[in-house]
Amino acid sequence: MSNGYCGRILRIDLTSGRISVETPDDAFYRAALGGRGLIAHYLLKDLAPGIDPLGPDNEFILATGVLTGAPVAGSGRSSIGAKSPLSGGYGDAEAGGYFGPELKRAGFDAVVIRGRAERPVYLWVHDGSAEIRDASHLWGRKAHDVQEAIRAELGDRGIRVAQCGPAGEKKVRFACVSNDVTHFYGRGGMGAVMGSKNLRAVAARGGAAYEPADPERLKEMARAMSRQIAENERGFTDLGTTGIVASLNAAGGLPTRNFRDGSFEGAAKIDGTTLRDTLLVGRETCYACAVRCKRVVEVKEGRGRYAVDPHYGGPEYETLAALGSLCGVDDLEAVCKANELCAAYVLDTISTGVAIAFAMESYEKGLLTKEDTDGLDLRFGNAEAMVEMVERIANRRGLGDLLAEGVARAAEELGPRARPLAMHVRRQEIPMHEPRLKMGLGVGYTVSPTGADHCHNIHDTMFVKRVDAVKPLGILETMPVDDLSPRKIRALKRFTDLRHTINSLGLCQFVGWDYNQQVELVRAATGWNTSLLELSLAGERAANLARVFNVREGLRAEDDRLPKRFFEGLGNGPIAGTKVNPRLAEEGKGEYYAMMGWDRTSGVPSRAKLAELGIEWAAAHLPREAAERGHPDRRPAPAGKGRRGTGAPRGKP
Ligand code: SF4
Repeated sequence: MSNGYCGRILRIDLTSGRISVETPDDAFYRAALGGRGLIAHYLLKDLAPGIDPLGPDNEFILATGVLTGAPVAGSGRSSIGAKSPLSGGYGDAEAGGYFGPELKRAGFDAVVIRGRAERPVYLWVHDGSAEIRDASHLWGRKAHDVQEAIRAELGDRGIRVAQCGPAGEKKVRFACVSNDVTHFYGRGGMGAVMGSKNLRAVAARGGAAYEPADPERLKEMARAMSRQIAENERGFTDLGTTGIVASLNAAGGLPTRNFRDGSFEGAAKIDGTTLRDTLLVGRETCYACAVRCKRVVEVKEGRGRYAVDPHYGGPEYETLAALGSLCGVDDLEAVCKANELCAAYVLDTISTGVAIAFAMESYEKGLLTKEDTDGLDLRFGNAEAMVEMVERIANRRGLGDLLAEGVARAAEELGPRARPLAMHVRRQEIPMHEPRLKMGLGVGYTVSPTGADHCHNIHDTMFVKRVDAVKPLGILETMPVDDLSPRKIRALKRFTDLRHTINSLGLCQFVGWDYNQQVELVRAATGWNTSLLELSLAGERAANLARVFNVREGLRAEDDRLPKRFFEGLGNGPIAGTKVNPRLAEEGKGEYYAMMGWDRTSGVPSRAKLAELGIEWAAAHLPREAAERGHPDRRPAPAGKGRRGTGAPRGKP
């Protein structure tokens, strides 16, 4: 087994209580790397087509990457994956913190959980073994309370806890999973999958050391990065991602009032500087990272309109925008309170904010009335109503029960006039980055494996003035934010392949490891004579496995589409009136498909591409009809034999 791995995957069946361990070979690890690569492999191989994401046949996978737990900055990351109850397709999410490294110290690279326990349980993974323990006493309790109860019960304060929270128990479709109560595997409803299995938490503790192939080289690189962080990353430590509020507002791309506007008159009241100068009481970090970009905020009881508990950290950029400008709310205390509630119930703040903004616009347009809101005046800018709606969504109370289904399903329920107000791609709510400012990112939203996502995506603003960071990928020219030509799509393709890779390595994108250093880290960790080409192919392999999974679940090219609002003029700000050209967006999507080796029209991966990536076996998972459309030189399947397998009908989860 290569260094950097434990060589052991834990398998749990919660229905039977069976616990087993697999020991994959070196070739498996080298092809998958870990994280997203590993999750995509297992979900495609293990799940039958068309299963209910909230049923016992779904898998809930916690996976570390090859660098997770290495003694270098940014190595605290790990992934969680499952068929998503939000999108109905491939789902995964990543988080920093300390849980991933601790899982490895406990002796496992990943935990694959299926089935459903009869009663609430939690999983206790320690020193190479695992037990399923009763969690009836933890059900319904908020995240910090549960974490402390598990630590007390097992008598060890060093235990790391990943958990789904009360929102996951109630199967809110965008419930997420947290670790250490402040680090979030945010997108795709992974918490709802966990809750559907009656699995409240996974606790990990172990004493095994990370053993790199070349410890001296790794130490040398860690020291060099510490110096780089001390010299260059002060600004990021100072404001973290919250600094983005001001910069995007200045550029006209701060999502405001359900993406109607790109500039928020109250931005200065909720931006990173104001947060730092008012409510910030500390900066936290992840395993082995000197950047310390995580915020901690507090409002003491009786000192403001809301008491805000510092145990739950503080808001990131996405949260300030989703629960602030997107809802027209300029009350920083209220946004921090809503952030605390999302952390306590374990809700994705992006989807929560988009759901509330959707409801506010529906209320403004008369599609929801005071009768629907139980008397709440749900207008944009009403901070109290925003905070109250977080509670209602988490507890599926009143209108909150409808919004807990996500904006796509809620709009279906409210009727045709509500559909244009539902801001999602493939049912995953749009993150806080505006496609009318970053047009390549808009195409990236449509082709993402998980539905709209900003992490495995390009941010066009990166390519406007300098492209030094991406020159090792062969991207040599600068390009404007509204460029949707093949050169921008080439940048999208090459950049996102490597984003899939970094999510498979278990490395944080906010630490400044350049591409060649990433290769060097993997070499030092594993002893492999690897290259940027091999790592990039691993990212592309993960994206293709996820694409095959989605096609098998019924994904069609017409589902890869932005909401209509982005084809209309932005309402205000420096780029008011700017719109995405639908023809160029569609052409860009086709170009991306073609560059990925997928059929330009249908987006179905070709057998040749799968073979190039060493995953020929995945072609057997393509429904025949889709495979035929991916190969126009082949005759269509005879009538009545159009699809192999039992892929879910479109429109069903
Ligand atoms: S840069 Fe920030 S998010 Fe990334 S590992 Fe460091 S502290 Fe965590």
